[in-house]
This record gives sequence, structure tokens and C-alpha cells, in this order.
Amino acid sequence: MPPRFERVAVIGVGLIGGSLALAARTAGLFGHVVGVGRSLTNLEEALRRQVIDSYTLDPQAAVANVDLVVLSVPVRAMAPVVAQCRNALAPGALVTDVGSVKRYVLDTVEPVLPAGVRFVGAHPIAGTETSGVAGATADLFRGRRCVITPGTRCDTEAVLQVRALWEAVGMEVVEMSPDRHDSALAWVSHLPHVLAFAATRALERHLPEAAGLAGPSFASLTRVAASSAETWVDIFVANRSAIARTVEDFLATLEELRHTICQATPEELRAWLEESRGAHQRQLRASKEKS
Ligand code: NAP
Repeated sequence: MPPRFERVAVIGVGLIGGSLALAARTAGLFGHVVGVGRSLTNLEEALRRQVIDSYTLDPQAAVANVDLVVLSVPVRAMAPVVAQCRNALAPGALVTDVGSVKRYVLDTVEPVLPAGVRFVGAHPIAGTETSGVAGATADLFRGRRCVITPGTRCDTEAVLQVRALWEAVGMEVVEMSPDRHDSALAWVSHLPHVLAFAATRALERHLPEAAGLAGPSFASLTRVAASSAETWVDIFVANRSAIARTVEDFLATLEELRHTICQATPEELRAWLEESRGAHQRQLRASKEKS
């Protein structure tokens, strides 16, 4: 039975917070939703689209008497926002987040929570390169995976409630440690963003006039370079050691390919590429399989 939260504060009504509010309202899981942000324009748009019922710029006013707080701001803004509103959080309230890095969020948010307030971290692995509530949709999460990373400030009921919430908006939920999440996401999400930001920059530096000849392959390699710099600064900083290791491992493989292109026979190069094609097929199957 999915939970119902009568009063919810969504702090950061952007792509992810807005999509969760829309999906949960559509499924009847949220009663009154109060949105919190920094700019009136985005919050007014959220109200107009019926993503939220009311809004405030003051996190402390928003969380009084709520059952659930969803932190959907950039990951380094989460603990400061909780510190701003901690005195108004009622004992028994449940706080969750949607951040793309889990160890940093757990280590910074848990210490600022008041006694009796429970926290369960989550990361819905869904999204696009757009930001703000304008891109929010009720079906963003359908058919995708969500990782939850329970820490030390939760009980079984809180974990079950957060799991049931994400399942009710169409996600398959997996539980893992924050460190395991961060190492895996460094490969399958953070590295692709590093490559997209670097590839656009490198083309601009070395042969900007080639942009006019770019086709779908360059467009798909660099699509996520349109993502919010504010969001991605926080992800890169908060997961910098796992990202640094991943980039090093990636560079070693890139160098091996460069060497193979330059020095190997066409047959050896072909074998290298066939192996990559096989890995691609296995990775596609793994991303579709139920865990
Ligand atoms: P977004 O569309 O830019 O939304 C973030 C919202 O947070 C903005 O509307 C902004 O409000 C608000 N905000 C930022 N700092 C704030 C602060 N200090 N106080 C109050 N409000 C603040 O970003 P998003 O893509 O939804 O990302 C939000 C979270 O989801 C991040 O932690 C990210 O790691 C995670 N995530 C993102 C994706 C993705 O693909 N984008 C996927 C999964 C998880 P204003 O508009 O008023 O400035």
C-alpha cells in the first residue's frame, strides 16, 4: 500500500523536485504541497502548472507541520537548507533527498537534523539536460531505477515509506551503501557528463568551425553538456575522489585505443572494436534487466 503524505515541502521545485511532486500528486500520494525556491518566477510557474499548492522563499515557514520534506536542490545546498529550517521540523517528520551523490549528502545532512527527525537518502536515476520546473513531467521516473541509501537516522518504517513512494511513481527501487552508489554513478552518470563538457570545450578550442558539420554522433556525445552548471559543480565537487579515479581509468583505456589506432594492424583494431561492441550489448541488457 503506497504511503500518503498529507503535507509535503518540496525544497527546490526544479526538474526532479517538480516531477516528483507532479507524479505523486497524480498518484494521490501527496496532499498539500508547499514549494520552496529562490526565485518567484520558477515557483509561480510551478503553481500555475499545479505542481505545488503554495510556495514560500523561507524553508523554515515551509516545513512547519509537514510529514515529508523532499530536498531537491543541488547537493551542496542540502545541509545549509536543512540548517535553516531545522528548528521548525516536527519530531517524527521524514526527510528525504534526490541528490546524485549519496555519501556527501548523508555525511552533511544527518548531523544537522534535529532529534526525532528521520532521514532516508534516495537518488532517482532519471532526468534530462533541462532544469527548472518547466521541464518537469509526471512520467519522468516511470520504468527507471531509484537507489535508496539508508543511513543512521532512519527506522524500517521510514525506509519502507521512501521505497513505496518511488515504487508508486513507477520506479524499481534498489538499496545500497552510499559509497557503492557513488563509485557506480561516477562511471555511468558522472563520467558521461565529464566527457560531454570536455568534448564541447575541446572542439571549441581546436576546430570551432567543424561545429557546422556535426551530426547525430557528436550531438549524442555532448547532449548533457547543456545541463545546469550549478547542479554539476556540486556533483563533481561532492564526488570528486570517485570521479578522479574513474577519469584516470577511462584515460588509460582511451590511450590504449589511441595506441591501437596508430600502431596496431587493421585486424587488431577490428578485434578491439568488436570487443567494445560486445560490451555495449551486455551493458544495454544489464540496464534493462530487473535487478
Ligand atoms: P534544477 O532543475 O535546477 O532544480 C533545482 C531547484 O532548486 C531550482 O528550481 C532552484 O530554485 C532550487 N534551489 C537551488 N538552490 C536553492 C537553495 N539554496 N534554496 C532553495 N532553492 C534552491 O535541478 P534538478 O536537475 O532538479 O536537480 C535537483 C537535484 O536532483 C540535485 O541534487 C541533483 O543532483 C538531483 N538529480 C538531478 C538529476 C538530473 O538529471 N537533472 C537526476 C537525478 C537527481 P530557483 O529556480 O528558485 O533558483
